[in-house]
Order: sequence, then C-alpha cells, then structure tokens
Amino acid sequence: MSSTYRILCLSHDPALTIDTPDYNRPEQAEEAIRAGIDGHTTCDLAIGRYSYPLVDLGCPASRDQPAQLRCHHGSTIWTDKDWLLLLAAAYQSDDPTMQQAIKAGHHDCLPWERLQRLRNELDLPIKENPRP
Ligand SMILES: [Zn+2]
Ligand SMILES: [Zn+2]
Repeated sequence: MSSTYRILCLSHDPALTIDTPDYNRPEQAEEAIRAGIDGHTTCDLAIGRYSYPLVDLGCPASRDQPAQLRCHHGSTIWTDKDWLLLLAAAYQSDDPTMQQAIKAGHHDCLPWERLQRLRNELDLPIKENPRP
C-alpha cells in the first residue's frame, strides 16, 4: 500500500495542508520543513502520512520545527491515527480514569490545543466544552 506524505500547518485552526508536491518518502517532507516553507516560516508544522485519509502524524525534529513547542526530539515522532483518536477521546472525557491517564502521560507533541486542530483531517468529534 503506497502512502503520500504532506506537510500540515497547525498554526492554522483547523489545520491546513500545505500545497506542495506530494512526497513519496517521509525524508522528502522532513527535508522540505528543514529548508523552510514559503508563507509558513514561523508556523507549527507537522507531516501527515496519507493513504487517504490521514493514517499517521509526524512531529518533525525539534531543530527543524519553526515554532516553539513543548516537545524536544532529534527525529520525527510518528503517531498513528488510532492513537490520535484515542488521545482525542481521552482529552475530552469526563471519566476520572481517563483524565488521570492523560495527566500521567507525556503528550508533549500532542497537547489538546494542537491535536484538536486536526479535527477535519481526523474527522474528530469535538465536544462543546472540552477539558483543557
Ligand atoms: Zn502556517
Ligand atoms: Zn514533537
């Protein structure tokens, strides 16, 4: 199954797919972020792996990321769609065990503020008043 990699701008709310040629390998998207994306030079960028729809989200190496994020890592960190959906459900849950699990975890790449911007890409159900 072939995948396509595209760059997402998460400074926009909801997230925007940046109109670049589709990449066949993640390294090409990483390279493009490293080189800088026109019009998004200070934006929060991520890499989406698509097998239409989005199947994986990559948070690029911190040194290549134009925005200041809470996370720090030397290479791209990938999170697959199933986990993104579970995480989104947990962030919005009123269940204390879910809230506890979120607090105990390290979700520095994907705080709710960032994850919820992918609501269109992931077809995320969003509650009226999600917890922070
Ligand atoms: Zn942008
Ligand atoms: Zn990260």
